[in-house]
Amino acid sequence: MEEIVIVGAGLVGALLSIYLGRSGYKIVVYDRNPELNESRPASSRSINLTLCERGFQALHRVGMEDAVRAICVPVLGRIMHNPEGLSYQPYGNSQEAIYSVSRDCLNQVLLEEARKCANIEFHFNEECTALDLSSGTVQFRNRISGVESSCQAERIFAADGAFSTLRYLVQRRTRFDYSQVFSTQAYREMAMPAKASGDWPLEPHAIHIWPRKNYMLIGFPNTDRSFTCSLHLPWEGDISHASLRTEADVAKLFAKSFHDAVPLMPNFARDFISHPPNSMNTIRCSPWIFKDRLVLIGDAAHAIYPSYGQGANAGFEDCRILFESLERHGHLWPAALREYQTLRKPNADAIADLSERHFIELRDLVGDPRFLLRKEIERRINKLYPDRFRDLYSMVTFTAVPYVDALRLHEKQRIVVDQILEIDDCERKLHSGEVDGLIHELMNREAFTVAVHDRNGPVEALR
Ligand SMILES: Cc1cc2nc3c(=O)[nH]c(=O)nc-3n(C[C@H](O)[C@H](O)[C@H](O)COP(=O)(O)OP(=O)(O)OC[C@H]3O[C@@H](n4cnc5c(N)ncnc54)[C@H](O)[C@@H]3O)c2cc1C
Repeated sequence: MEEIVIVGAGLVGALLSIYLGRSGYKIVVYDRNPELNESRPASSRSINLTLCERGFQALHRVGMEDAVRAICVPVLGRIMHNPEGLSYQPYGNSQEAIYSVSRDCLNQVLLEEARKCANIEFHFNEECTALDLSSGTVQFRNRISGVESSCQAERIFAADGAFSTLRYLVQRRTRFDYSQVFSTQAYREMAMPAKASGDWPLEPHAIHIWPRKNYMLIGFPNTDRSFTCSLHLPWEGDISHASLRTEADVAKLFAKSFHDAVPLMPNFARDFISHPPNSMNTIRCSPWIFKDRLVLIGDAAHAIYPSYGQGANAGFEDCRILFESLERHGHLWPAALREYQTLRKPNADAIADLSERHFIELRDLVGDPRFLLRKEIERRINKLYPDRFRDLYSMVTFTAVPYVDALRLHEKQRIVVDQILEIDDCERKLHSGEVDGLIHELMNREAFTVAVHDRNGPVEALR
């Protein structure tokens, strides 16, 4: 059995170990953190995240879909807490859901599954410190004992996250392109516990958003009937991480901007002050493969803003696509790795762009009447042409259409929506013959073709 080293037992490293371990490779996984269990403090990263169709497709391939769905809360739409009241925006047109899950629970379920495979071995508290690419030697330092050790492998996967050490170690190689862009905003997490009665504090099957132009609060449901909220603010400025210095400052902001959340979040001011702000960044790099030996995967290859909820989904999809390439090439690694990079890199770039745009959309536009009208038109076209028109969010979230194809199709569809928006008094006429007539005319003028991938490959065609 060829030995493969995976550095990082996070979400992507754990799933990758299952994919490769199950197909007979000897897998050794190293992580600098202690093993995920009671004694380890919860992740300092976001407490929960959302999974969608492409993440589930990758889990399905290794029989993990049901186990993961069992620890999720389905979420059907957004509830916007606007100053003038609540409004609801469904995520899909047919009750489709995204799934909120605790990051640590998800990681634990994956690690438990990996542990069932006799040829997968884990080493925790081992921090990767050095790499010799020619011999395939990776060095580690134990974070408890300080003992240095090394291992050698034909294939080494960097699944060590956005600030990947392995990527850093190859960063100075000639023709390695790398860019890192930090958002001008950062977030802090705060708890919204279940009510004393044990009930949910808010409608559970929704993500709650309090958009306030330059800042926003977002709440995600947890299976224990609590919500985890994150407050997104600019680093600096009038209302910012820099300006909110005391619990009183935070209380004042909440009273002004999020007054309906105040009674539901008993410790919001303390939570805010006691947590440092977390940055958000986009990392792009190329290549992802070095000497057919070192392979970047997940956030190590493509860190993106969390706004679209795609980072882990895309990382899981990396595992599926890599594995399918391996199968297609009879486990001949050089060809499979080249194909993996060719297929994934443009898609990683596309979702990075989309995530940057979506962040603005969430923060600034979800309360904007023109934006909402656009969404309404998209829903109308989808209703008339369910097989041929899907809005961008649906394609990204409820299908596994490659991100690049979704973006390309969206650009064409956008032109159709723009033309309908030009109709005088469009909002009032939305369900009238005039608007429907133009929709039919425009939809029959353009070809909209993209393959929608289900669990067995491309099936349905969006034309
Ligand atoms: C606020 C926020 C919200 C998010 N929401 C979503 C969402 O809703 N949906 C979604 O799909 N994605 C979401 N994401 C993105 C998602 O969290 C990441 O894409 C995902 O965790 C990437 O997984 P990974 O395994 O590649 O990296 P990580 O999860 O970062 O795991 C990397 C692992 O490598 C280990 N490691 C690091 N350095 C070393 C070293 N030198 N030696 C040994 N081990 C090392 C770490 O300990 C860690 O266990 C969100 C991210 C953030 C920040």
